[in-house]
Amino acid sequence: MIEIKGVTKIYNSKKKHNCKALDNIDLNLPNHGLVFVIGKSGSGKSTLLNLIGGLDSLTSGQLIVDGNDISLLKEHQFSNYRNNHVGFIFQDYHLIDDLTVYENIKLTINLRGVEESGQVKEALEKVGLSGYENRFPYELSGGERQRVAIARAIVKHPHIILADEPTGNLDQKTATSIVELLKEISKECLILTVSHNKSDAHKFADRIIELSNGHIIGDHSLNLEYNNELEVKGDTLYYPKHKSLSDEDIEYVNKELENKNIKHIVKTEDKFIDTVPSNEQLEK
Ligand code: ADP
Ligand code: MG
Repeated sequence: MIEIKGVTKIYNSKKKHNCKALDNIDLNLPNHGLVFVIGKSGSGKSTLLNLIGGLDSLTSGQLIVDGNDISLLKEHQFSNYRNNHVGFIFQDYHLIDDLTVYENIKLTINLRGVEESGQVKEALEKVGLSGYENRFPYELSGGERQRVAIARAIVKHPHIILADEPTGNLDQKTATSIVELLKEISKECLILTVSHNKSDAHKFADRIIELSNGHIIGDHSLNLEYNNELEVKGDTLYYPKHKSLSDEDIEYVNKELENKNIKHIVKTEDKFIDTVPSNEQLEK
């Protein structure tokens, strides 16, 4: 679990006034799931990911990962955290152009001081790119490049994957397929992804955190009682608040109405509800 306590990040810049990119943020994140971070440009999304990933340091506050305060780690423990605990995925892939797919991914393994013994093949299988080992990045489409970057992130079995606008350069269809892949991977680790696509967020997120001017202005989690099915149970029609009805749905309701089966209509809840602190946090 990640505990972010009163975290502030101020960028000192000579030209401009100091910029408070994150302002006293409190946030707890679980060990699994797909968490979307949304918000306007400049709201602090990348800063949040970079702090969690150890790419930048906090101005004040605490970042506690699995019980360890990250800012108290010694240099070698800190690079161990960055190399083994977290994986990054970027909008522009960050692949090395003159290395093959295999070599790009193998580099990550070697950085950890581990020998490659089939991990690359396994990671490529997971992202649907079996057999792509010998291609160069320029021989791949945008979506395929991002899959290689995802393979490079998952090959080290990180606890956290930080994805900063991973679908920003992709067309809608490819973008959705990448989000689907992240959804699958998020069963085994925590994925924080920055996205501007509200419909993908609504469709795939376990949680959506919204930032504005360095503050959290929204934090919503999937409602586990949510049911998107339009259905008649007994004499009650359950009607999801935000569902757009298909012709079949309308036909189904009309038939039930004709047969006088429906006496009550209940609008079922929103798909997302306010995130409530876990029991663990409440006990503290
Ligand atoms: P987002 O990813 O939501 O677009 P960022 O986290 O990149 O936002 O930036 C948050 C704020 O911090 C912005 O006002 C941005 O200009 C500022 N900022 C980000 N990085 C730096 C930096 N290295 N130096 C100075 N200001 C920065
Ligand atoms: Mg950003």
